[in-house]
Amino acid sequence: TRTLVWFRDDLRTADHEALAEACRRAERPGDVVALYILDEVSPGVRTLGGAAKWWLHHALDSLQQNLAELGIPLLLRSGDPGQILRELSGELGAQRVHWSRRYGGPEREVDASIKAALPERGIEVESFNASLLHEPWTVQTNTGGPYKVYTPFWRQISVRDPGPTRDRPAALGSLEAAEDSLPHARLGTETLEEWELLPTRPDWASGLRSTWTPTEAGGQERLHDFLETQVQDYDDARDVPADDDTSRLSPYLRFGQLSPRQVWEAAHQQSPDSVSTFLSEIGWREFCWHLLFHFPHLPHTNLRSQFDAYPWKSRSESPEEFQAWAKGRTGFPWVDAGQRQLWETGHMHNRVRMASASLLIKNLGIDWREGEAWFWDTLVDADAASNPANWQWVAGSGMDAAPYFRIFNPERQRDRFDPKGRYINAWIPELNTPDYPTPIIDLKASREEALAHYSQISGKG
Ligand code: FAD
Repeated sequence: TRTLVWFRDDLRTADHEALAEACRRAERPGDVVALYILDEVSPGVRTLGGAAKWWLHHALDSLQQNLAELGIPLLLRSGDPGQILRELSGELGAQRVHWSRRYGGPEREVDASIKAALPERGIEVESFNASLLHEPWTVQTNTGGPYKVYTPFWRQISVRDPGPTRDRPAALGSLEAAEDSLPHARLGTETLEEWELLPTRPDWASGLRSTWTPTEAGGQERLHDFLETQVQDYDDARDVPADDDTSRLSPYLRFGQLSPRQVWEAAHQQSPDSVSTFLSEIGWREFCWHLLFHFPHLPHTNLRSQFDAYPWKSRSESPEEFQAWAKGRTGFPWVDAGQRQLWETGHMHNRVRMASASLLIKNLGIDWREGEAWFWDTLVDADAASNPANWQWVAGSGMDAAPYFRIFNPERQRDRFDPKGRYINAWIPELNTPDYPTPIIDLKASREEALAHYSQISGKG
């Protein structure tokens, strides 16, 4: 039997059930064909931002090479997944389609409709878990509902075994043999270059190139380096952006070049005390997906509806403030350093993400969705669950959110987490010159205004 493995946010060859099961059934090269679909047409499925597109290009390039070593061709198509899968499985004579499950609302609709339609054509569909330690419907409160608070959620799953990882499959033969067995003329595969995922004019990606190795092997290397040399100090060091001592695994997890189960398994080879805080962060990632699954409107709607009455401004109502924030010219070095790090490298340290989001929402009074969209475009780890969940956490409109009155003070954060100014000096060369702007907003007055708005909406909804 020939199986088509549809890759999505699971761009790896190791610990990949859908691929491993297809290979287990295969008898000869060509029995497994891999497919990636660039879907910019399904309603509600978010188009990737610029930084994520850059990452995707390299992740697919790396996947294509890794699959080639296993004797598996990777076909690239763009368009409507339902139509592509129907046509391609017919052309290739595939009897099975495998994929890893997705948890966002629009993605689940796409997958459900394909899962209903293909069997009518005699094609069997099988889906697997690849992206979470535990899928959302397997984690429930005592009364059977979804968790809305992180701590009990993590208490439940932190002691649950997610099961062993799967090995990378053995090679089925040569790629040439596989390609020879396929009906070539009708494959019509597209190329990565045609998709134009990389920036050209201007080429803003040089900082990304020098910061990241966006391959499956790069993710493995980062995981093992981090566990061998950094995780022991994570509890203390994770709050110091200048030291860069967090794992930097988020984009690999985002694109599924690394599975959370691989992280879990490798971390459990260390002493439990040394990895518990780090694993609880992996737990936050799980929690964000849990929230997105149960509350599919999370990316665009306040989870606490009383926030619908908050008079946030849109980006177009505050164009200068928004631009100053986005480009790192607010006059608050802590936030500006973070925004510049983001623009240059596609990453911003978590401590600074919180303060930067807080300044935008609570001091500048701009809607969290505007900041979320900027992060969506500029983060290499921009994630359909973690990004909106964390923005709603900072806004106070999320499920297990920071209390609204917790307004980060960027000056105090800097004094506390960057007392020697190593982080801000690294990102703002003109800091002590007249070229650096004075603060664009009065922290105290804007804080009081935010609290007044909040007291008006609290109690509503
Ligand atoms: P580490 O500290 O090494 O943590 C290990 C892993 O745990 C991370 O790779 C990530 O997968 C997960 N993790 C850690 N913190 C969180 C968290 N608060 N929420 C969810 N998962 C977490 N993370 C994303 O992966 N994608 C996003 O789009 C994203 N947007 C964010 C937006 C805002 C406003 C804020 C405050 C946070 C956001 N985060 C997001 C969470 C967090 O900042 C990043 O996961 C973290 O900075 C990534 O760096 P790291 O891999 O070195 O993290």
